[in-house]
Amino acid sequence: MSFDTLGLGDSVLSAVKDAGYTEPTPIQRDAIPIVLSGKDLLGIAQTGTGKTASFTLPMIERLSTGRARARMPRSLILEPTRELAAQVAENFETYGKNTKLTMALLIGGVSFQEQDRKLDRGVDVLIATPGRLMDHMERGKVMLNGVQILVVDEADRMLDMGFIPDIEKICKRVPFTRQTLFFSATMPPEIHKLTQDFQQAPVKIEVARKSMAADTIDQSVVYCSSKDFEKRDALRKLIKSETELTNGIVFCNRKRDVDVVAKSMLTHGFKAAPLHGDLNQRLRMETLGKFKSGEVEFLIASDVAARGLDIPAVSHVFNFDVPTVAEDYIHRIGRTGRAGLTGTAITLATRAERKYVEAIEALVKHELRQREIDGVGQDAAGTDDTPSRGRGRGGQGGPRNKSGGEKSSAGGRGGRSRGGRGRGGDKTSSAESRADKPKSDAARPEAKEASGNKPQRKDVKPTRSRREKPAKDDRSKSTSDSHMPAFLMSSSKPKSEE
Ligand code: AMP
Repeated sequence: MSFDTLGLGDSVLSAVKDAGYTEPTPIQRDAIPIVLSGKDLLGIAQTGTGKTASFTLPMIERLSTGRARARMPRSLILEPTRELAAQVAENFETYGKNTKLTMALLIGGVSFQEQDRKLDRGVDVLIATPGRLMDHMERGKVMLNGVQILVVDEADRMLDMGFIPDIEKICKRVPFTRQTLFFSATMPPEIHKLTQDFQQAPVKIEVARKSMAADTIDQSVVYCSSKDFEKRDALRKLIKSETELTNGIVFCNRKRDVDVVAKSMLTHGFKAAPLHGDLNQRLRMETLGKFKSGEVEFLIASDVAARGLDIPAVSHVFNFDVPTVAEDYIHRIGRTGRAGLTGTAITLATRAERKYVEAIEALVKHELRQREIDGVGQDAAGTDDTPSRGRGRGGQGGPRNKSGGEKSSAGGRGGRSRGGRGRGGDKTSSAESRADKPKSDAARPEAKEASGNKPQRKDVKPTRSRREKPAKDDRSKSTSDSHMPAFLMSSSKPKSEE
């Protein structure tokens, strides 16, 4: 099936062609005609499915006639994080390059003045994180009564990050006659209620989850020591053992580990850079740009910072820590094996983390292949609490009891509540979300660290004898001075007539 049959006009089709897409993904095939028809849509889909184009392409088409008025955007897209917002904006630039649509990006970490200037000129498309949008609304700088299309993207992530009260307020300020599009990877009850309150007879489209995890991604687990420096050593060994590796994202559960692992990898000669919510916006965008260009080969990231990153062709995902919420695993490994490419996801696990591995296995409905890497061993004794301690290296103690694991982990998945999740694997969520949130909503319970966070023993020295080099650090890659998207630097589109 080609894009031509979906009802998109020539200028959008030509931009799609230039982007190199030959066929619509399933969500694009189903969603584009619905969005074009003006109906409300509930898309249950994750990043990696092509969902961004499924709403941006028809939006561009629908907005291509009409005129923007000062401070009254014609459409509004809400994103939970700055990175996602910036990526959607990049998508608009790519797909809307043959139109004269104007766009503004309202995210934290960027000056209000520049954002105000754009709003004053009038924008067709406003892309915002809820916190920054509320700030602008409270300052009287933006009015939502001209919004014809409202998109709430990554709604379940909005829930995790405590943005639902803001979303409700925003939805109430947008005209009742608008078209409303909701996208969410999962449908917890809170999101279901939100769609009932703010959508009118939405058409529901669900994109199968299984394709993300099962088919194109080689998933394995390596059991290793819980000592931090031995884990970092294991990570390096793993990376070097991979022959097909071109670039990778290394996920850590905690922000401070993101920094430690990034620093350690740099010391060991890897082209690595950290990405987490405490880094300023400019640095995060630059890091992302360098990763896309290949100047940085390993992105060391927290869950929230990496959520939904649009990075084509990531060959490897490494979980430095096992995510304690199984669904985060799906999101993490979704960074590889995208759009039909094959990918590799390798999880480092300590014995104490085995229960989380089992929860993941229950969620993806198969066991992760257990691998052994030369020189990587598990805890010898004393640090973990699993009854199987003392079993041979690699934990090859026979098949694990799947049925028990499935029960408990399935419960964890389905029963994901805001509080419950916050205390789980997404330890970076609370702090990171605050960056984009108005002060009034900052009183959410602080996320607590889960188990498995053993203090590093200071009395044991790493056995590193010489500086190690990764196998592939001599590839020449293009670099650029700044990877800030153009729209962040200046107005890159001709402004609409006023
Ligand atoms: P998304 O799910 O929107 O984050 O998109 C995931 C990735 O798929 C992005 O890198 C897109 O550029 C890419 N993509 C989107 N639509 C298509 C398509 N029809 N064909 C190939 N790649 C696509």
